[in-house]
Amino acid sequence: MQTRIFHGDLKAEDLADALATRFNRGNLVAHRLAVGDRAVVQISTRQHPSSGGQTALGVTLQQNEDGVTVELGKQAWLGIAASLGSTALSALKNPFTLIGRLDDLAEDIENLQLDDQVWDAVEEIARAAGASSQLSESLRSAGCEYCGVANPIGEGRCLACGAPLGNVQPNTCPNCGFVVKPGDSKCSNCAEKL
Ligand SMILES: [Zn+2]
Ligand SMILES: [Zn+2]
Repeated sequence: MQTRIFHGDLKAEDLADALATRFNRGNLVAHRLAVGDRAVVQISTRQHPSSGGQTALGVTLQQNEDGVTVELGKQAWLGIAASLGSTALSALKNPFTLIGRLDDLAEDIENLQLDDQVWDAVEEIARAAGASSQLSESLRSAGCEYCGVANPIGEGRCLACGAPLGNVQPNTCPNCGFVVKPGDSKCSNCAEKL
C-alpha cells in the first residue's frame, strides 16, 4: 500500500470522479464506490469479467483537514453490486482476506505499470486543483515554543517574543506530502531522503 497526502483545497469526491473518468477507457475499467466516508476508485483490466475473485488496483481517497490522503494498493474487485454488500466492506477493512483471491489479473496490473499511471493522474488532477505536497496556507504556521503565538512558516524568529523557531516549523516530504519532523533525515512514509 502506497500513501501520499495532497494539501490544499481539494475534495476527495472530485478527485475520485476525475480518476474514474480518466481510467474508464481503452482496456481499463474503473468503478467509483463509496465506503463509509471514503471514496474508492477501483481500476481493472476489461478482458476479465467484473465478478468476484479478481484483483484490481484500489485507490482510496480520504478527506482530511488539509486536503486528501490517497492510498493505492491491490484489492479484490468489488464491482458495483458487491459494493453494497458486507463482504466488500470486510474485504476493504481486512485486506488479508484477499490473499487467497489474487489471480493473474494482478500480473496484468503490474505489466501495465498502472500504479505509476494512477499516481501521475492523481498528481496532475491535484495540481490542477491547486493542491500540492506542501502544507496549505491554513496550516502553514508555527506555534512558538515559548509564548505560543502562531507564526508564518519561514520566520526565523517568533514575531511576538523573538525566540528562535527552528525546532517548531512543520515541513512535508517533497515526494509524498507526509508531515515530517524537523531534523528527520528521511520520510517515515516513503523513505525519501529529506
Ligand atoms: Zn514567541
Ligand atoms: Zn515521503
